[in-house]
Amino acid sequence: MAKPAPSASKNLCNSPTLAETPLTELKGVGASMSAKLAALHLHSIQDVLFHLPLRYEDRSRVYPIAGLLPGQRGYICGEVELAPQVKFGKRRSMVLRIADGSGAVTLRFFHFSAAQKAALSVGARLACFGELRRGPGGNEMVHPEYKVLGAQQSVETSDKLTPIYPAGDGVQQRTLRRLVDQSFTLLVKQPERLADYLRGVPAAGVQLPGLVESLQLVHNPPVTVSVAELLERRHPCQRRLAFEELLAHTLSLQQLRVATRRQPAAALQNGKVLFDQLLAQLGFPLTGAQNRVISELYDDLASGQPTLRLVQGDVGSGKTVVAAAALLAAVASGEQAAMMAPTELLAEQHYLNFCQWLEPLGIRIGWVAGRVKGKQRREMLQELSSGDLQIAIGTHALFQADIEFKSLALVVIDEQHRFGVDQRLALRDKGLAANRMPHQITMTATPIPRTLAMSAYADLDVSVIDELPPGRTPVTTVAISEERRADVTTRVRKACEQGRQAYWVCPLIEDSEALQCQAAETTAAQLTEELSGLRVALIHGRMKAVEKQTIMAAFKNRESDLLVATTVIEVGVDVPNASLMIIENAERLGLSQLHQLRGRVGRGQAESSCVLMYKSPLGRMAKSRLSILRETNDGFRIANRDLELRGPGEVLGTRQTGLVTMRVADLLRDAGLLPEVREVAENLALNQPELAERLVDRWLGSRARYGEV
Ligand code: ADP
Ligand code: MG
Repeated sequence: MAKPAPSASKNLCNSPTLAETPLTELKGVGASMSAKLAALHLHSIQDVLFHLPLRYEDRSRVYPIAGLLPGQRGYICGEVELAPQVKFGKRRSMVLRIADGSGAVTLRFFHFSAAQKAALSVGARLACFGELRRGPGGNEMVHPEYKVLGAQQSVETSDKLTPIYPAGDGVQQRTLRRLVDQSFTLLVKQPERLADYLRGVPAAGVQLPGLVESLQLVHNPPVTVSVAELLERRHPCQRRLAFEELLAHTLSLQQLRVATRRQPAAALQNGKVLFDQLLAQLGFPLTGAQNRVISELYDDLASGQPTLRLVQGDVGSGKTVVAAAALLAAVASGEQAAMMAPTELLAEQHYLNFCQWLEPLGIRIGWVAGRVKGKQRREMLQELSSGDLQIAIGTHALFQADIEFKSLALVVIDEQHRFGVDQRLALRDKGLAANRMPHQITMTATPIPRTLAMSAYADLDVSVIDELPPGRTPVTTVAISEERRADVTTRVRKACEQGRQAYWVCPLIEDSEALQCQAAETTAAQLTEELSGLRVALIHGRMKAVEKQTIMAAFKNRESDLLVATTVIEVGVDVPNASLMIIENAERLGLSQLHQLRGRVGRGQAESSCVLMYKSPLGRMAKSRLSILRETNDGFRIANRDLELRGPGEVLGTRQTGLVTMRVADLLRDAGLLPEVREVAENLALNQPELAERLVDRWLGSRARYGEV
């Protein structure tokens, strides 16, 4: 791997670099404009050059009306089918409808004139450019640009793409365009004022295009460039910039990692003696994968440097026991440990579980949740700060300011994908009292493909529990139309009559928790009637935490047969006797979420199954999505497909990818670049740290940096 040319880091001319040149040097930028630009994180000329278009407006083609998707902008062309009418809704508007044989669309104008209305009579041909949206009565375009076409006239397309920039209050596209143009004038005159940090770095086996050329291409795409290539950001110049952006992000995460590791941390002895006592009590041997991950954790914890490790393991792979092993290392060393879960339900389940496992070993465990109040809370706080409680289990309430530990040495975070990087980092304050960084272990069932994990979690080491405990029969999955609901209830009855238990999940249909809970209530009432003789229980997110826990505990004790639930049971719930999972409206859920839900069964010895109920007819895409779940129980394969279908932001949550929103790069599309990005990053950090610093500045600049969260 060639190093970037060292000269790239030097400024060869005497003029300041464009990174040092304030925007006030451009025409038309005074104090007030410069304040507005600062709000867009634009301070220097370099900032303007790296203020990359969000998207391009494509006027190169005319879409059939049915071919344009809601949210998409484009040209359409059609005949007026319904003449303009004035509507008096919340706001007076004029609406008309045009059609082109493929479909029809409503055009809506809030500002209009009588002359305009007159020109838009039935049969007139219009060319419109605008964004398609879902309206109250079908798709519509609000205030499209339009032109009435003569009989023989065709739409005037342009073969150039117009860049659209992220704009802001008082900073319009036109202004940005002008600033970009002026900045280029400066740059072309003195290209040495903008360092090309990647000069001489080959990526994906090819020489990357130069920086100036690349910037010019994205800001002013020439007519010769393929529109599709540009829109999909596959042009070599875009790849060049994406490479640099990924590099900057990777460097920033590495800086965070280095800064974290520089802090002192407690060197914990391993917890083997205690853990062996726990194992004797559990009565099952660990899987090879569990053993391997535990010894990786023990090595980390003993090192005296803060552990930052992500433990990935599919649902049911046995992460809780691994967490226990880690907690015991802290206890064995006379230190405190905490375990945090994303919901109170899950946290309490861990709490009860750990009490059962660890109290026989003489270990004292505390429960930290928002609703612990009054005297109970004062006592808990006192026992945490005196060190009487060796382990604390709770929700994010563990972060609260009044929670003080005597010596917090380790934090385990379960189901990490529910937490953001910032929260994870906020934890360090809790251990800093003792002037040490607590070790951090995060556990997730969301399998992240390796290349992605290396970037999104560049500040973490990764361990994988890639083996399920033996004796599990894989969950058989079927997809059934809602029309066959009666078959499904019969199946529930059979399973319960055989002494098994079942879940019935009613996921979000409306975008409202209240409505979701209502739907679950209705379903529960209905099922109680249909399944007379069975004990039907209900659990949903709007219930009080205590109530939820009582219901969960009763289900676990086999005091109910069927548990109707919202997606509150998505993570972590563990009832081995439950062997049947029904999921309504399965077509509306993400694959990984369905896999998580399905993971609530198949935890015991019994043959388990999952029924995905859908509303027919099912589209082709939806069909193929559901069939993936039928084909495989492998969370990694499912996550990969989910990533392909929905992208990393959706799957991991934008915050959970750990990455600030990117400008040209896309973790999934550019995954192929990541190994090289990583290599170059390591090289730079080692050999040219000041250059690395400038690169991070260029791309992350005044935005939140990872290290500062
Ligand atoms: P997850 O990785 O989804 O958090 P859990 O830790 O909840 O999985 O474990 C699922 C179930 O498997 C629990 O009932 C747990 O006691 C059991 N289990 C864990 N490890 C083993 C093992 N090595 N052999 C048998 N059962 C195990
Ligand atoms: Mg778990």
